[in-house]
Amino acid sequence: MKSLTLKAPAKVNYLLDVIRRRPDGYHDLRMVMQRVNLCDEITITLTGNGGIAVNCGKEGVPDGPGNIAWKAARVMLDLAGSGQGAEIAITKNIPVAAGLGGGSSDAASVLMGMNDLLGLGLSDRRLMEIGVKLGADVPFFIFKKTALAEGIGEQLCAMPAMPPVWVLLVNPGVHVSTAWVYRNLQLTNRGGLAKLPHFYGTVDDICSILSNDLESVTIPAFPVIAEIKAAMLRLGAAGAMMSGSGPTVFGLFRDREGAERARETLVGDSGWFAAAVKTL
Ligand code: ATP
Repeated sequence: MKSLTLKAPAKVNYLLDVIRRRPDGYHDLRMVMQRVNLCDEITITLTGNGGIAVNCGKEGVPDGPGNIAWKAARVMLDLAGSGQGAEIAITKNIPVAAGLGGGSSDAASVLMGMNDLLGLGLSDRRLMEIGVKLGADVPFFIFKKTALAEGIGEQLCAMPAMPPVWVLLVNPGVHVSTAWVYRNLQLTNRGGLAKLPHFYGTVDDICSILSNDLESVTIPAFPVIAEIKAAMLRLGAAGAMMSGSGPTVFGLFRDREGAERARETLVGDSGWFAAAVKTL
């Protein structure tokens, strides 16, 4: 049986501007997205029975058609039209509903993996068109570069090269619904959008663009997010920000030792998820 194992990385948002609410309920955004090496592991095995089985075993993540990886597999098997099926085993290392894009990344990996396994030969552009129908962040994980993402997240262009940095991720485990965040967002009539630099030579250059409009909703409701940001800065982060719709906070560090030291001090025996990872 043909089988493939893939790593599906998480992302952080260096920048997340909400531009406007669209008539279809989505929001036009401007985001700078960066992959980090905290990865789910996905093994896809083709079967002859036409069905799809997803085995994830993680609380809060459905194993059946509700799993976005299941949906991605369905699209690819239908395109192949060969009557084959797939078994998908997912080891979830990325916290769920955390603002780290775990589900979208799983779906992107399944699209790319099944494209290979089934010999479909679809271009990345085509896979991105398929992916955006599954989730707005899916195309970014097929793009595989630090990206400026516009529209709902599907209009992607590569950002100028950025230096690799260490990223401390801390998730306090409070439940934040993405839909709730966008429902409660007050869209202010801001002036023009801040211009993005064309050159990023140091971690401080990256920190100069850190901003997330969604913090205006999450921080008043979950002050722990602001507390983690402040603690990261106290512990030596060059910058700190909430990722996506939260609640994960990330801090940028110049070296691994700094990130690990901050992790140990910050997390202690809180039971929070925390990992010091590197940008990809
Ligand atoms: P984003 O940053 O794109 O908003 P997120 O990290 O906040 O994403 P996910 O971890 O992708 O959120 O999960 C959001 C919801 O999707 C969860 O409530 C979960 O039940 C559902 N879901 C479906 N499939 C998956 C999957 N493969 N991994 C994680 N969650 C999944």
